[in-house]
Amino acid sequence: MIFESLAEKLQKSLNKLKGKGKLSEKDVKQVMREVKLALLEADVNFKVVKKFVNSVKERAVGHEVMESLTPGQQVIKIVNDELTKLMGEEQKKIEFAPQPPTIIMMCGLQGAGKTTTSGKLGILLKKKGKSPLLVACDIYRPAAIKQLEVVGEKADIPVFSMGDKQNPVNIAKASIEHAKKNGYDVVILDTAGRLHIDEELMDELENIKSEVNPKEILLVVDAMTGQDAVTVAESFNDKLGIDGVVLTKLDGDARGGAALSIRAVTDKPIKFVGMGEKLDQLEPFYPDRMASRILGMGDVLTLIEKAQANIDAKKAMEFEKKLKTQQFTFDDFLEQLQQMKNMGPLDQILEMIPGIGSKQLKKLKVDEKELVKIEAIIQSMTKEERQNPSIINGSRRKRIARGSGTNIQDVNRLLKQFKETKKMMKKMTNMEKAMKKGKFKF
Ligand code: GDP
Repeated sequence: MIFESLAEKLQKSLNKLKGKGKLSEKDVKQVMREVKLALLEADVNFKVVKKFVNSVKERAVGHEVMESLTPGQQVIKIVNDELTKLMGEEQKKIEFAPQPPTIIMMCGLQGAGKTTTSGKLGILLKKKGKSPLLVACDIYRPAAIKQLEVVGEKADIPVFSMGDKQNPVNIAKASIEHAKKNGYDVVILDTAGRLHIDEELMDELENIKSEVNPKEILLVVDAMTGQDAVTVAESFNDKLGIDGVVLTKLDGDARGGAALSIRAVTDKPIKFVGMGEKLDQLEPFYPDRMASRILGMGDVLTLIEKAQANIDAKKAMEFEKKLKTQQFTFDDFLEQLQQMKNMGPLDQILEMIPGIGSKQLKKLKVDEKELVKIEAIIQSMTKEERQNPSIINGSRRKRIARGSGTNIQDVNRLLKQFKETKKMMKKMTNMEKAMKKGKFKF
């Protein structure tokens, strides 16, 4: 769950307002005191918190809110608006140069996720029809070039490198020539990082910047480092001038401080967020969607986009038809499971559904392992068994359990669930048919 503790506290405090028919100024003040504490505990910059709380209070105690029919809901809406504003209002996209190639310079401290993000960004751009080139400009850290090459291979994006004997400015310049000659329209420079900000690093980055004039300088920062990430962003912005931030590791237990403060402190937008180690786990950052996720209101738009990108609509329709005619098999089941997995980790998907707040998510105790188990069981079945589960007798069950590393109860449970789903679908389709014929009365 994103920013779990912050989300939980904010939702708990704001829920107190929900049912109230009338609100007093004291009610609002009390809740805003709790909101303030929650934000400070999440490591949000204290100046940002102060300004935020004051803006909400100012709007919340106004006439329209206090005298409206649903004052509680109005206050929640104001908090949602102000959170969105804090994070920059609208989504800021990558800008492309009028004349290709567009040069994107990635920078940041060591370990923030620069190399990984370079590959992830390449993948996103490829999906948009671009033809990116990754460039290895980190000549200091041993294995940095190799790491980018591995990322490039996984992402199926070419990597330009000149080893570690050339200086990064020359490498960057040569890569642009290479891109022009070979038709790459985006050049992503993976520059060197350091453990801390130092003059030498900044000088090098400035040199690259002045020689190649990048269209975008993206700073990669680790969300888990909270206010340190904000300080790093301030320094890079003062010394180098950045165009945007990529906030990584939001899938971890980041508290939220970086995400909520960076824009307000540096005035530079967060353009992307890293949601996992895998190369397809980079998302454009939408302040409004993030605000509603934090407040437990879901994020239907991202959910739909993920579904559209990962679920084959034709196959989904076929599956629905098979469900209705009770013709679905364990093969279909497996396919659906795998498509769902492509959308990302289950808890990240569930929290996008409106109404599944932090409390409900905890209750659901999403157990990814359970899905892995089901997958293993189905994979241990023979083709025949998957098509016709009724042949799965005692000895077959034993074999399947052994093959999937589960036990016989697990296999029994899945078979039972499968049978019940079929029965239920039959009932539902009969009901639907009866209703259509007008025979079914309530
Ligand atoms: P660099 O030194 O800045 O180039 O950082 P790397 O790209 O080598 O990343 C450092 C570590 O962070 C690696 O183990 C990555 O897999 C991990 N990482 C990067 N982005 C994310 C993310 O969004 N989520 C998680 N969980 N890990 C990430």
